[in-house]
Amino acid sequence: MPTSEPDRVPGRRTAHFAVVDPATGETFDEAPDQQPDELDAVVDRAHRAWHGWRADPAARTTALRVAADAVETAGDDLARLLTREQGKPLAESYAEIARTAARLRYFADLAPRTRRITDGRPVHSEIRWRPLGPVAAIVPWNFPLQLAAAKFAPALAAGNTMVLKPSPFTPLATQLLGSVLATALPEDVLTVVTGREPLGARLASHPGIRHVTFTGSVPTGRAVAEAAAASLAQITLELGGNDAAVLLHDVEVDRIADRLFWAAFRNCGQVCMAVKRVYAPARLHAEVVEALAQRAKTVAVGAGLDPDTRLGPVNNAPQLARIEQVAKQALADGARAAAGGHRLDGPGYFFAPTILTDVPPGSPVVAEEQFGPVLPVLPYRSLDEAVDAANGTGFGLGGSVWGTDLDQAEVVADRLECGTAWINHHAELSLAQPFAGVKNSGVGVAGGPWGLYGNLRPFVVHRPQEE
Ligand code: NAD
Repeated sequence: MPTSEPDRVPGRRTAHFAVVDPATGETFDEAPDQQPDELDAVVDRAHRAWHGWRADPAARTTALRVAADAVETAGDDLARLLTREQGKPLAESYAEIARTAARLRYFADLAPRTRRITDGRPVHSEIRWRPLGPVAAIVPWNFPLQLAAAKFAPALAAGNTMVLKPSPFTPLATQLLGSVLATALPEDVLTVVTGREPLGARLASHPGIRHVTFTGSVPTGRAVAEAAAASLAQITLELGGNDAAVLLHDVEVDRIADRLFWAAFRNCGQVCMAVKRVYAPARLHAEVVEALAQRAKTVAVGAGLDPDTRLGPVNNAPQLARIEQVAKQALADGARAAAGGHRLDGPGYFFAPTILTDVPPGSPVVAEEQFGPVLPVLPYRSLDEAVDAANGTGFGLGGSVWGTDLDQAEVVADRLECGTAWINHHAELSLAQPFAGVKNSGVGVAGGPWGLYGNLRPFVVHRPQEE
């Protein structure tokens, strides 16, 4: 689901592009529109900085811990800017910054393990781990800071340097984060570049880059894989999802409704691992629709800087247009809106939180990733039918099963084709767990020690025990 990008700001000597506040729809600032030909110098500096950075693991640990403290100290400024350009409620911006600092601390203390190969031969073989070189990170607009941290924390901890490109819809908080991190890291270890396409495409294909780590949509992920093939750089792709929540016959709807609602609507539904489809037993379907619709109708929607807001705007105009089109198509396909179904009047990119029922399974809101505040609730008659439907898309990021009998729920969870399956929760992630979608949802493994090793190559030293 690639989106078209912000407009150039006319009349500036150095090219800049406009950054819009999604709560008003107005430009509130601008960011440098760096050009692809600037990347040679940036990557060259990242390469030179790599030699010092890779040499001293203890200094890296210290620097990353100091960086985490610096992020927390700058928390107020980062949070306000993040909310301003992304739209999310301020409390969610603070949570994102806390996760950014936590990632830095987690990876600061994680070191690869040297291992000896013992296969009976009279030799001493040892596996050590080496960093790759300059890494390119390209991230989307839904969680600009924490998704960037999910890339720079393991990459830098492993001894690589990084060139980080945020989405042009959310460049400013990342730019500020870059200057905050620069107070703790040696020069050129982490460089933030901002600009519109083809900056990302050129970064992904740059011959000086040894690993391209990308988070975003499936079509852009494919383009990134093709671009990186030019230099045969290693790739990690964290792509879209269309997670299903399967409710079982013994689910207590009142008990889970709040959690289920927020699993779908947090960050205005703009979460790769949001619940994007709900499958409810036919007997409970009306009750589930009612419980979710009641919450959708009463949740406080507004500007993220307003302390009462629980649900902010959609991040950008093209995404709002897509949400509107997907909802309209569902209604044209015969769906009924139990709540919402339309844009909200007034300025800003607001869409009414929407619960859809009677949706045909082939409608795009079910078959594709909507990535916004629109949730279809579908009835099922047999569990096999529900599991087949849950597994029936090209995505495989996450999934969840909701019920009272946890053993039965786990049996069903085990049948979901995805990277993480939750019971009575959704999208709760530990820093220590692997994060790996299946099918079109991803290539490579991020998170935990796997994220660290994904930024390293094994190096084997082999010597005879005695001559
Ligand atoms: P997108 O694919 O449009 O853009 C992602 C990034 O790629 C942006 O920085 C963009 O500027 C850049 N880009 C665009 N074209 C490029 C090209 N040809 N080459 C290189 N870079 C290019 O995605 P988006 O709309 O910003 O984000 C939403 C998508 O991200 C959703 O599909 C969502 O599910 C996915 N996502 C996945 C995860 C995950 O961890 N799996 C997390 C968050 C978001």
